[in-house]
Amino acid sequence: MKTAATIKTVCVYCGSRMGNKVLYQKQAEEMGSLIADAGLALVYGAGSIGLMGVVARSAKDSGADVIGIIPSHLDDVEITQEGLAELHVTDDMHQRKKLMFERSDAFIVLPGGLGTLDETLEMMTWAQLNLHEKPIIIVNSNNYWSPLLELVDHVVTDGFAAPENASLLTVAETPAGAIDLIKNINDQKRVAGLSS
Ligand code: AMP
Repeated sequence: MKTAATIKTVCVYCGSRMGNKVLYQKQAEEMGSLIADAGLALVYGAGSIGLMGVVARSAKDSGADVIGIIPSHLDDVEITQEGLAELHVTDDMHQRKKLMFERSDAFIVLPGGLGTLDETLEMMTWAQLNLHEKPIIIVNSNNYWSPLLELVDHVVTDGFAAPENASLLTVAETPAGAIDLIKNINDQKRVAGLSS
């Protein structure tokens, strides 16, 4: 019996800083434990600082396998998290981002800075080029990402991207909403696998 592959490994992109609202840290903690509760593994940038560190420790402490991927030059800057199930040290940022992409079945984006934006836009542009069909889920905590969603709509409205590219991002309001989306996708894949 052929069963469509389900999402087992989720990459979380988020800030290497905490941000200045308690909600961001609270949701990062929730995200980690929800990933573990759903039986998913976490892929992330391997740092111990900021929201990325919060998600990773919460996932790890809740029992998830956490796979960290960091370029050697950021080992001191982002203070590589100890106790990860897997740690991969790459030569540069490009290798890091590629390996994070390869090891992940889906992407969840929490609030973050320019690095988070870069990673998110890269996954969007690779999807636009049909290089992958992995879901990219934005957690729009406190409307943090609304300006990005508006910008993407603006790009489409003014004719610089195809209308279907407006839906490259799936929006969840909360970490629980993001995990529900992944569970729904997995349910659909199981049904499709059973019927094929
Ligand atoms: P930030 O959102 O800027 O706090 O960064 C979040 C993560 O993205 C950190 O692990 C950064 O190392 C990483 N990052 C920073 N700049 C870039 C970049 N140009 N491309 C990809 N990732 C980056």
